[in-house]
This record gives sequence, C-alpha cells and structure tokens, in this order.
Amino acid sequence: MSDQEHNGLEIIRHSTAHVMAEAVLQMFPEAKIAIGPAIEDGFYYDFDLPRPLTLDDLAEIENRMRAIIKGKHPFVCQVVSREEAAARFGDQPYKLELIRELPEGEPISIYQQDGFTDLCRGPHVANTSEINPQAFKLLSIAGAYWRGDENRPMLQRIYGTAWRSKEELEAYLKRLAEMEARDHRRLGKQLDLFSVHEEAGAGLIYWHPEGGRIRTAVEDFWRQEHYKNGYEIVYSPHIGRSWLWETSGHLGFYSENMYAPMAIDNVDYYIKPMNCPFHIMMYKTKTRSYRDLPLRWAELGTVYRYERSGVLHGLLRVRGFTQDDAHIFCTPEQIDAEILRVLRFSLHMWRSFGFEDIHAYLATRPPEKSVGEQARWDQATDSLRKALEEERMPYDIDEGGGAFYGPKIDLKIRDALGREWQMTTIQFDFNMSERFGMEYVAEDGTPRRPYMVHRALLGSLERFFGLLIEHYGGAFPVWLHPTQVRVIPIADRHAPYARQVETELRQAGLRVDVDASSDRLNAKIRNAQLLKIPYMLVVGDREAEGHQVSVRLRTEENLGSMTVDDFAARVQQVIAEKKGL
Ligand SMILES: [Zn+2]
Ligand SMILES: [Zn+2]
Repeated sequence: MSDQEHNGLEIIRHSTAHVMAEAVLQMFPEAKIAIGPAIEDGFYYDFDLPRPLTLDDLAEIENRMRAIIKGKHPFVCQVVSREEAAARFGDQPYKLELIRELPEGEPISIYQQDGFTDLCRGPHVANTSEINPQAFKLLSIAGAYWRGDENRPMLQRIYGTAWRSKEELEAYLKRLAEMEARDHRRLGKQLDLFSVHEEAGAGLIYWHPEGGRIRTAVEDFWRQEHYKNGYEIVYSPHIGRSWLWETSGHLGFYSENMYAPMAIDNVDYYIKPMNCPFHIMMYKTKTRSYRDLPLRWAELGTVYRYERSGVLHGLLRVRGFTQDDAHIFCTPEQIDAEILRVLRFSLHMWRSFGFEDIHAYLATRPPEKSVGEQARWDQATDSLRKALEEERMPYDIDEGGGAFYGPKIDLKIRDALGREWQMTTIQFDFNMSERFGMEYVAEDGTPRRPYMVHRALLGSLERFFGLLIEHYGGAFPVWLHPTQVRVIPIADRHAPYARQVETELRQAGLRVDVDASSDRLNAKIRNAQLLKIPYMLVVGDREAEGHQVSVRLRTEENLGSMTVDDFAARVQQVIAEKKGL
C-alpha cells in the first residue's frame, strides 16, 4: 500500500469514528464522548455511557451508522475561540478537559457532520458518502481508563474497522479470525503448553510438560549450534550485589525496570534484569591477550524486568523470561568478521526454525547523549552495514535510533500471517566495557579496550515460544512437536501391542504416547488431530501380526501400513531435515 493510499484509509477510518459517535449519541443522548482516533486497521471511540454495551447494541449502532452515511452529510470545519469551543461542549466534560489543555493561541477546530459536532484537528472525508456502508464493521467493546489513567473513570471503548470495499473488509475479517485461531494464549490452553497465574504473580510463565518438551528441543538445538559455531556456554547467578549494578550503570539508567533490592547481611542485592555484568566479571578473572580473543560466551539467562501490569500479554510481554543471550569480546581488527559471523549464525538459526522472511534495521548513533569515541562508533556501524551487505540482507537505516552506548542491528521476522516480530538484536556496547575497565593486552604489549557486542538471537525463549505457536498455529514441525507420534489401538486387546510399539519408538528417540482411553477409534483420531500430533499409528490385529503400523498424518493423509522400523527411520529423517511432516 502506498503512503497516499494509507493516509486515505486512515481518513476514512477516523471519519467513521465520528459517524459511530453520532450513532451512539442518537441511542444515548446523555452519553459523554471522549476521543476517537484511527488505529492500525481501524478506529475506536471511548464513551461514558449510562449502561454497559452489549454485542446487540453494536448491530444497532451499525444500522444507525449506515443511515447517517446515506444522508451524504458534509464534514464542516469551523475554527473557533477557546470560549466558543467551551460553550459548544458545555455538557461534555472530557472535551472540556481537552480544550483547557490546548496551548494558548493555537487555533481550535471543530468538525460537524449531520447533527454531531466534535473537537478535532481533522482531516476527514468531504462527506459521509465517502464511507462505504458495506465496508465497515464494529468489532468489540473493551474497558479503557480515561487517558489511560487507572485513577480516572473507566470508559467503554468500541473498536471498529473500515475499508474501501466489501472485499477488503471480508479479507481483513478472515485474517482476524485466523489471528484469533492462532492466538498463543488460546492454543497454549488447548494444547496444554503453558499457563500464567495472576494470583501467583502476573507476567510469570509456567511451562507445562508439553511446552517443556518443545523448550527442551529448542534448547538442545540451541546449545548444539552454539558449540558448533564457536561459542562457549556459561552460567551466572540470578542476583548480584548493588556494587555490580552501580558499576554497570543499571542502577542509574535502568532502575525503573528493576525490582526492589533484598538485604543480605545488610547489603542490597538485586535480581538481575540482564546477564551482561556477570559475563564481564568472568572476563576480568584473568589478563586477556589479543591471542585469547575473540571470546563468544552464550547463556540461557533468566532475567526479571518490571513491566506495567496493563501491558503484560501472554508470552509476549512478561516480567520474567529467559534470554538467549551472548556476549562477544574482540579486538577492533576482529569486529568485521565477528559481526558477519553472528549475523550468519542468526540467519541460520531462524531458517532452521522455518522462518525465511527476515528484515534488518540498522540503528546509528543518536544525535545527543551518547558515549564512546566517534571513531569507534564509525567502525562499529560500518561493520554492521558491511555484514548486511555481504549477506545481501534487505535493511532499513534507523538514523540516530541506536542506544546511547552503541549502534545495533535488529532483525524482524515475518510470520505466516505476514506480521513482523522484532526478535534478534546485535548491539555494540561502548559503555559497559569502559565502566568495568575491561582490557586486553595488544600485540605491542599495551593494554587496550576490547569491543563488546551483546547479542540476543531468539530474543527470549518465552516470546520466541509465542511466535512459534502463532506461526505454526500449533501444528509444529515434527522435530519440535511435543508428541511426535501417537499410537492408537483399535480395541482394548491391541493395547499390549500398542505399548510395544511405543517402547520401540521411544528407543529410537521419538516422543511418543499411546491413547489407551475407552474412546472409539474416530474419537481417538479426532483428539490426536486437535492436538495437531504429526503421526497417528493405528494398530489392530493385522498390524500386530505383521509387526506393522498403519500411518495417518495430521493432514488426514494415509501412508498405509509399514513396519515399525521403516516408520521410525522415516520420522528420524524428517526430524533430521527439520521438515514439517
Ligand atoms: Zn476527527
Ligand atoms: Zn548484554
């Protein structure tokens, strides 16, 4: 979509919000109106109403909106004085509050269509007939605090969407339904993968056995690939004395994300929001020579960071998570090769998990308040750019968007529904190496400051799990699926043979179970299908006699009968190649 088309849609959406507010005021003349902006894919408007809205109300509001649209009412703009604006919205306290806060001397515009007037900057469509009555829909009702402040009144927010054509609307609704079906919170429950317990602490993830199997598969692969790619794996404590966080600077610039300290022997300790200072302590345990570098140290380090309760969201915004962290310490001469290496490794990992559509963002030095010599920034930024070009990665430059301590590359991953997820970060740090006084002995015998690079590849295991669930809609590729094979005995008398098949496949390294329930065959298949189990092995008399299994895929395709050994070999091959099925 071009910018112009996008702006056009935004104007249609925002104008539709005005029409919705008019319809709501028709139904509830005493309603107090708040604000109604366009948002991604739609719009909303907040209302203070005499009673809670129901979904039936939405249908009536939509009908009234269509009637208003039909009237071809122009949107008329008027610029008014502050007093006049206050008089026009005399019975609308939220609007009056907004008017009071407008800066002195700024023109105040109000827009009117039909019988409805709103305080608004615009722009809008010229008249209501530019809104397609077949291309909008009201979607949901939610509570929203006035100005997002939990001490202010709770308002009712109506969300809607608007498009140019009925076809566009239908395509969007289909996508929305697909997104809901893949929602990781819904699938997490349905597939029994994880839970969150408000009463035991918000934003903290409980990995159930099925989720635990997926995590183990991810971690095993992660460790193996890190060793293959020249990393060492380290482990560090969960808490650190205040000295550590003062030295790192976190207590200065990051304390609002850290939890309150606990006193141990009258000294403050903090639970870690990051792993970096621990890795630096390890670096400093001995004199490092240029011959020892680069060092690549990785850790699956569990950290805790404060997030406001309002923004917590399933696996995606949490308060405790395990970063797949690494730090690279190297000499200036090594950074080009190291950055290229870490970028290639990142791409290899994403592709292994089935993600091919990856876009990079290169963030450069912010114009003010940053640390480090310009020459180092230049060299580091250059190495990031060269690596992207060498790998022929599509990338955008985020000019001035780097952290105060160094430039970085972010990788955004596009999922099966075309949504971009910010995951990998490759980030230089000129601050911490300085604060901890890190050194190495150069070839000429003088002490030098090493380059330090933070790298989170998958981001965090929790968020990555959320992405995996939604990308695959729970139909994980075989190598990741918690239950790769389910053996289904046709009748009770086939249970012993089913158990035997289970044992043999387990010996072959597969994750397998038996449905020994009293359900009928069709119900057993349906249950396995709901769990998106890749292989269902139906066994009866014939299979038991020939030491065979009858293989059914979750795609409902039948592979027919084969021996247990042939089946095991086939699945092992699929796993080795990380294929879907
Ligand atoms: Zn407006
Ligand atoms: Zn770090």
